[in-house]
Amino acid sequence: MDINNIDDYTPESVTKIMSEMVDQVIIVDSNTNRYRRIISRGFMDEFLPPNGYYDKLLETLYFHMKDSGDTVVDGYKVFLSSYGTYDDKYTRRCKMVHNDEPHIVQMTIYPVKGTGMYIFVLNELDYEDSRSDMLASTKVNTIQNTYLFSMYIDLIKNTTSSINVSEVSDETMHSHILYTDWRLMIVNMIWPQDKEKFLRRTDPEYLKEHFAPGQYSSFDVKMQNLEGVYIWVKLIFSRSQTLNADDYRFVFMVQDINESMTNMNTYLKEFEEKASIDALTGVFNHGRIETEITNAIENVKKTGETSSIMILDIDFFKEVNDNFGHSVGDKTLKVFSKVVGDYFKERGSVLGRWGGEEFVAVCYNSSIDKTRELSESLLDRIRSQHFEKVGNITASIGTTALKMGDDLTSAFERMDKALYQAKSDGRNCVRVID
Ligand code: GH3
Ligand code: MG
Ligand code: MG
Repeated sequence: MDINNIDDYTPESVTKIMSEMVDQVIIVDSNTNRYRRIISRGFMDEFLPPNGYYDKLLETLYFHMKDSGDTVVDGYKVFLSSYGTYDDKYTRRCKMVHNDEPHIVQMTIYPVKGTGMYIFVLNELDYEDSRSDMLASTKVNTIQNTYLFSMYIDLIKNTTSSINVSEVSDETMHSHILYTDWRLMIVNMIWPQDKEKFLRRTDPEYLKEHFAPGQYSSFDVKMQNLEGVYIWVKLIFSRSQTLNADDYRFVFMVQDINESMTNMNTYLKEFEEKASIDALTGVFNHGRIETEITNAIENVKKTGETSSIMILDIDFFKEVNDNFGHSVGDKTLKVFSKVVGDYFKERGSVLGRWGGEEFVAVCYNSSIDKTRELSESLLDRIRSQHFEKVGNITASIGTTALKMGDDLTSAFERMDKALYQAKSDGRNCVRVID
């Protein structure tokens, strides 16, 4: 045949030439979920088995991350069936990683009308040339990439369409999933505690009731991403403004808000910590230790376990200020808090600054006898501590056990009375009121 003359080409000769050039031709029967390869050359000869299950083939072609060969977590594979139905000729590029080597493949699918059979034609492209094409389109889509997923919903027809999963593909896929089925597929990817909320707010009746035409709204849940990691996402529903009031069409989008939520959470934790810590001494502040006492009383009522509270007041602290100045007084309070705070921490108890040179501790699971011993040895610890410039100081302690009928005031009154006794009895000692 004279290949220099266009008049010599026939449908048969062209078909023959094409069949010698194409890398892979695969026949798919979507009815039986099987495929069989007809023509094979190139790396895919080894990469793809010559026959097998159609959904496995789709998984290989579609379900890996856009910029890597990593496969998508199993939860998302429920969508495979919807990826594998084609009404018209369809073409796209896929990335495949074989023996750690990336390849880019152009795929064209020809449906055999009315049979559920498809012809898949796959051709490997020059990697460097097509990679730069793909990178360019990735760049264009960077802004959209915070939108992980989007689709159209028609509640009256109960259909979803034009699904776009940007992590997998930049392209839009037509979908054949019923909206009600889609909800039940996606709920498996939602964080267990958020499932109920997800189902309530995606319920077709809820959407019809709560969205006027043109209105949009969103809610946040944790959801597995394609790699299987739970991330914070914003689920956005926006109802279309159409001329027909009986239309219930929505745009649905999933936005990745993980970074901002994680930052906010860190900030809130820091804030909460700052709000409960005394700035000078670093132990709990008045409000926080008061909450601790209230919780301890509740716990006694609930479990019947004995816990005790104690108040420590530094003896003649005014003299420290008078003799050495306020800043030495501050330093002394800091060291005192550290020594006493560590002492309690080692014993599973907590310390807070009640105000000035007064501190309150909650001793969990501690009977009054045990607390008395604890207090005596704490006073020893304080006596043995050398404070810079000041030398040695002492403190007085009043303590009491929490009772079933207590509230904050009644418990505090006994403890305060005990402290008053300790002071009256000459200071540097423990007094207990049971
Ligand atoms: P007592 O043994 O009866 O408890 O005698 P005291 O001197 O410790 O008691 P008083 O209540 O008369 O004095 C407490 C002193 O604690 C007065 C105040 O100047 C000092 N003080 C309170 N808070 C601070 C603080 O944050 N820094 C410093 N440097 N001193 C403080
Ligand atoms: Mg005092
Ligand atoms: Mg004092």
